[in-house]
Amino acid sequence: MISRPKGTNDIYGEEIEYWQYFEKAARKVAGVFGFQEIRTPIFEMAELFIRSVGDETDIVQKEMYTFEDKGHRLLCLRPEGTAAVVRSFIENNMVSEGLPRQVYYIGPMFRYERPQTGRQRQFHQFGAELIGSSSPLADAEMIWMSVFLLEELRLHRYTLHINMLGCQKDRESYKAALKDYYKDKLGAVCPDCRRRYETNVLRLLDCKVDACQPIKEKAPELTEFLCPECRDHKGQVSQILIENNIDAIWNTRLVRGLDYYTGIVFEVKYPFKETVFDLLGGGRYDHVIEQLGGNATPSVGFACGIERMVATMREEKAIAEPAALCQVFVLSIGEEAKKESLKITDFLRKRGISVQHDLMGRNIRNQLKYADKQRALYTIIIGEDELDKGVYLVKEMETGDQIEVESSWVENYILEKLTAL
Ligand SMILES: [Zn+2]
Ligand SMILES: [Zn+2]
Repeated sequence: MISRPKGTNDIYGEEIEYWQYFEKAARKVAGVFGFQEIRTPIFEMAELFIRSVGDETDIVQKEMYTFEDKGHRLLCLRPEGTAAVVRSFIENNMVSEGLPRQVYYIGPMFRYERPQTGRQRQFHQFGAELIGSSSPLADAEMIWMSVFLLEELRLHRYTLHINMLGCQKDRESYKAALKDYYKDKLGAVCPDCRRRYETNVLRLLDCKVDACQPIKEKAPELTEFLCPECRDHKGQVSQILIENNIDAIWNTRLVRGLDYYTGIVFEVKYPFKETVFDLLGGGRYDHVIEQLGGNATPSVGFACGIERMVATMREEKAIAEPAALCQVFVLSIGEEAKKESLKITDFLRKRGISVQHDLMGRNIRNQLKYADKQRALYTIIIGEDELDKGVYLVKEMETGDQIEVESSWVENYILEKLTAL
């Protein structure tokens, strides 16, 4: 027996229905907001992520699935979606098709980390990128779309956290202030924080270690270092959200894990059992396109982990009833009846109805049992008696009601019943 690699999952059965439900909702929301799907390769040059995500991030430091191919290229299974979208935007000269460019992606990502609830080594993300607008309206649009998605999934208990990280200039002065603040406190913080102090001082605000919290709480706030333009941008985003009834909590401690964010960042938090999930996150990344060799192009995006979304949906019972695996099951006993059942099956399938018939040579009782397992809405029963009489039995599975229907009318009867649903 060979088992699946650690940190991966087989998705099937009841769970796949949640996945498909999620994907359908995500595509619908993307469509409503005017986003088109983009599919980029599963693997890219490793350099792409080192340069965009940042070589000081956990992703690049510890979590990338990097490998050398037979041509000695250093490749990497993509750990996130944005860098690849940006690479594609530049490489395919999408700017010529007009801005903003609005694309979304759904697919697997890979990070070598310790598997935990809702986090796998092969995990899946839905994300959207709005490339080419520096307007506060673009930030608001992505936040709006995130909230729209949650509502579409019937996840109502979310809280939206938002922060303004400022432009590069603001961040430099803030970093200097943080360095100054932490300078004489390094003895009291965790080893990770000591390392971050040297490599990326902003990440000190990301630390979850208990001992670091009181120090973190008294640290200077980024808001104090925002330039007038960034203050104004923040005010405008806030105003648009208020005018559109989107509740947001301004959280000055929200920095997000990736180095490339500038300006507005946001995160959706959701209660899950005893913990709180970061369900979705995004923000503005105005310099990534330049960093990857394109012309300076302001952009904003978000992504969410589908595993966590699905876990939350299941917890919230966001799908009331699992869908039927087939709408109609055609039962038959005997060769003649089987021929008849295949004709009906074909007729209904050609009209878009999902139909199954017996492929196992089971008796009537076991065919019914199987039809029930497939959650069929109706079964059509054709035995020798029914053939002789020219009248078939139609059973409504939920109620158990059975009625006799003229054999020449049975397909139409089913069609009428199903369209009436
Ligand atoms: Zn600024
Ligand atoms: Zn720490």
